[in-house]
Amino acid sequence: MSKYDYDLFVIGAGSGGVRAARLAAALGKKVGVAEEHRAGGTCVIRGCVPKKYLVYGAEFGKAIKESAGYGWTIKSASFNWATLRDEIQTEVSRLSNIYENVLDKNGAELFKERAEFTGPHTLRLTSSGREITAKHILIATGGQPWSPDIPGINHAITSNEAFTMDDLPQRIMVIGGGYIACEFAGIFAGLGAKTTQVYRGDSLLRGFDEDVRSAVDKGQAINGIDVKFGQSPSSIKKIGGGLKVSFADGTQIATDMIMMATGRVPNTFGLGLEKAGVKMAGNGAIIVDEFSKTNKAHIYAVGDVTDRVNLTPVAIREGMAFIETVFKDNKQAYDRTDIASAVFTQPPVGSVGVSEEEARAKHRDVQVFTTDFRPMKNILSGSEHRCFMKMITAGKKQRVVGLHIVGDYAGEIIQAAAIAVKAGLTKADFDATCAVHPTLAEELVTL
Ligand code: NDP
Repeated sequence: MSKYDYDLFVIGAGSGGVRAARLAAALGKKVGVAEEHRAGGTCVIRGCVPKKYLVYGAEFGKAIKESAGYGWTIKSASFNWATLRDEIQTEVSRLSNIYENVLDKNGAELFKERAEFTGPHTLRLTSSGREITAKHILIATGGQPWSPDIPGINHAITSNEAFTMDDLPQRIMVIGGGYIACEFAGIFAGLGAKTTQVYRGDSLLRGFDEDVRSAVDKGQAINGIDVKFGQSPSSIKKIGGGLKVSFADGTQIATDMIMMATGRVPNTFGLGLEKAGVKMAGNGAIIVDEFSKTNKAHIYAVGDVTDRVNLTPVAIREGMAFIETVFKDNKQAYDRTDIASAVFTQPPVGSVGVSEEEARAKHRDVQVFTTDFRPMKNILSGSEHRCFMKMITAGKKQRVVGLHIVGDYAGEIIQAAAIAVKAGLTKADFDATCAVHPTLAEELVTL
């Protein structure tokens, strides 16, 4: 008999936590999971999944406009926010139930309440007051939006609230130039709101390849988004039914809603980590080693709470590696090289490997191959959007170390191309591959 109530207790039923919990339970371990909101975490409840549905919604609007060149006459088209919002929420609830069922089916026990540490092996469930003990504890509490503390910030929403807004505002201002700001500015504009995106830098998506950034800057402008660079709000005031946003240079802009997308922070506040002796970084991220182990041998952390690569599939892989390491006697560190990702702007960005700037700093004999063309579909539709692709190779053998696409289906294309990059293939391997014609992706083998 174990002296603990659970072999594993997981805090947080998001992507990483649920994967680890279900795998441990399937191995016959006694597993408990605590979730203070709904099972599914950021990705399912207020992130990737509902966001992608909003992107699809915005794309239908675009398709209706562009269909005229293909012979369609659509006499009247209108958009109903409440319909899309409620359909998405129904689907989110369905998925959240699937997350609960998968835990249940595998024999893991879900507590729908918050858990806080009271000691290295002890947790308190805060609603019921129940104290539990666990041999191993996995922290998978994710992250949450962060906003600067400016006067009137209480009038702003974050992505958390954007999914359940009562109405789609006529005018909206999105603050930030990262993933969430760029995606939501595209969504709001695509659904018909007059959208302003305000970014303190001079080109969106800092950290991405410079050419990708400038392609996204152009894409946002083509979509009718008024992007204001070099600006940051200094205060927000409620004026009548709307808002007035002031900037450091004295400019003021009236809008109906403001959404802050100024970054996310690890969700560790009030977890009682000091009672367990778990070390955190200055921003609240849990410090872990390559095996996701904290400074306490029996406490691990995966996903956004560790602030490494904050992406759902990475959290899942970290959860799986944790199970191998702790319960299968097979130490595994998840390899974070060449992780592909997409930014679901319109058109989207697909990216894997290093940017040209990083390649030049890291590698020898760097060569760059680009193409920039008007996709076939856009000729008849009249869309001004273009497709940009960039391949970066390193060394005499021209190993592909970076691949970046801004264009329709970029997320889909990069997933397949990432296999080749991860496998260390060369430009000659790409060139030796026969094209699929006519596609956007064929450009990758004819660069
Ligand atoms: P990001 O860190 O990507 O972007 C934050 C943005 O806010 C940056 O443009 C930053 O500017 C700006 N900013 C920060 N502080 C301030 C401030 N005080 N005033 C004005 N602007 C400020 O965070 P996101 O919240 O967009 O996304 C968080 C993470 O979530 C991403 O990094 C990604 O890992 C993940 N994610 C992934 C998605 C996907 O895979 N499609 C979708 C959404 C999120 P600056 O650039 O100057 O620092």
